[in-house]
Amino acid sequence: MLFVNKYFLLQNVNLGIICTINKNGVQTMPAKTLNDVVALCKRRGFIFTGSEIYGGLGGAYDYGPYGVELMKNIRAAWWNVMVYSRDDIEGLDAALITNRLLWKYSGHEGCFSDPLVECKKCGARMRQDKMRDETRCDNCGSLDLTPPRPYMLMMGLSIGATADGAVNAYLRPETATTTYTNFKNVLDSTPHKLPFGIAQIGKAFRNEISPRGFVFRMREFEQAEMQYFVHPSTDEKYFQMWRDARLAWWINVLGIPAEKLRLTPHEKLAHYAKAAVDIEFEFPDGFDEVEGIHNRQDFDLGSHTKAQDELNINAHVMPNKDSTTKLSFTDPQSGETVVPYVIETAMGVNRTMLAVMINAYTDEDLGDGKSRVVLKLKPRLAPVKAAVIPLARNMSDQVELAHQIVDQLRSLGIGRIELENSGNIGKNYRRHDEIGTPVCITVDHQSIEDGTVTLRHRDTMAQERVALSDVSRRVMEIING
Ligand code: ATP
Repeated sequence: MLFVNKYFLLQNVNLGIICTINKNGVQTMPAKTLNDVVALCKRRGFIFTGSEIYGGLGGAYDYGPYGVELMKNIRAAWWNVMVYSRDDIEGLDAALITNRLLWKYSGHEGCFSDPLVECKKCGARMRQDKMRDETRCDNCGSLDLTPPRPYMLMMGLSIGATADGAVNAYLRPETATTTYTNFKNVLDSTPHKLPFGIAQIGKAFRNEISPRGFVFRMREFEQAEMQYFVHPSTDEKYFQMWRDARLAWWINVLGIPAEKLRLTPHEKLAHYAKAAVDIEFEFPDGFDEVEGIHNRQDFDLGSHTKAQDELNINAHVMPNKDSTTKLSFTDPQSGETVVPYVIETAMGVNRTMLAVMINAYTDEDLGDGKSRVVLKLKPRLAPVKAAVIPLARNMSDQVELAHQIVDQLRSLGIGRIELENSGNIGKNYRRHDEIGTPVCITVDHQSIEDGTVTLRHRDTMAQERVALSDVSRRVMEIING
């Protein structure tokens, strides 16, 4: 038995599960399988199968009432740190439908593909580099497989009345390229010198061979990416800076314990990359990528710029005869012109939400055959910040007071506040534990008499009696954690 920070760690030999006993003597167990979280997502309205009533569509999911809030809060947590708290990063929201030429010169049209292998026995189609054993079918175990062939991941579009079905545009497979093609627009409209960055959050589309792991690998997903443009002589310094900053964000802002994260440098680098490292999270079936930090050198601006011959481009780029704009930077003081290097941070928002939910999901054994599931989210991330519950739904004075508290809390502008006016109090607490609401405020007959209410804390289930005039202040303290 180990003693760690007032918490006991017990190894359950039979189940192979680590469980903890917290200060209140409550036994907790982390999520054991992805299925626990998938079931919660459906039961409590976080994520639904896309096109569900017609049998679904592989790799597409719909986000429900609490899923949209959690996604929004994760985006805000990223934007706050990457844009609002810095002087050197601007935001961008580029179109999802893009000119074919973007992807010709980025290299995607030629080589954004995965190695597809088919099983001749059962017909399963697999991505070779993600197979459990590259010689055997993941589905039926047969050794009779086709040789791998490149499978294009971009989704082509045929737009305009004259297109006649021919692909003349693409849905973007990442946000990054639309950032590079806007480099000059942002530079010319803002007062920046190197280094500076452009941040984007938005949808990306990839025709993945085998979508899997719920929202881990989808065909339509969302990315939060930042491209930091630096002088070529400073690339290594900024690569390390962003690697450390992004890891710190996962720990401090999302609340993921450091031991559930690791940095894995790429052994095999993409042709354009000088360095690449993945942040990996420990999912129930092992560590996997949630974010990548890449030193892409001058490949991107060098690929999309006009007048390539006039610029000293280091990366190996395709000759570009179509670009109308020079994507370089001239220092106003020294007069030096460079094609900036790019340090990229690329995170999947859906995958991040999944990691956050898996980390927060806690199954607590309360003793006497009772248990509860609680989502121990950082309060700032919680889909509902507070729920107000009148104990007697048929007492108009309690209901009226509950409405007043809801209005008061909504005026704080901290996110969703719910009035719970259905079910009994036990069911209300259980629902809010499962969606991660940090605090419930209960109005009872005593509230009408003495102007106090009960605050019930999600993680400890502790209750405190608070004067009405103190409710907003206490809720803010809880949300700010
Ligand atoms: P993978 O190796 O898993 O295919 P990648 O290295 O191609 O991912 P990037 O292009 O670097 O991924 O994208 C950045 C981030 O976007 C990833 O770290 C991941 O969180 C997310 N992401 C990529 N592909 C998908 C997908 N199909 N579904 C959901 N999220 C994705």
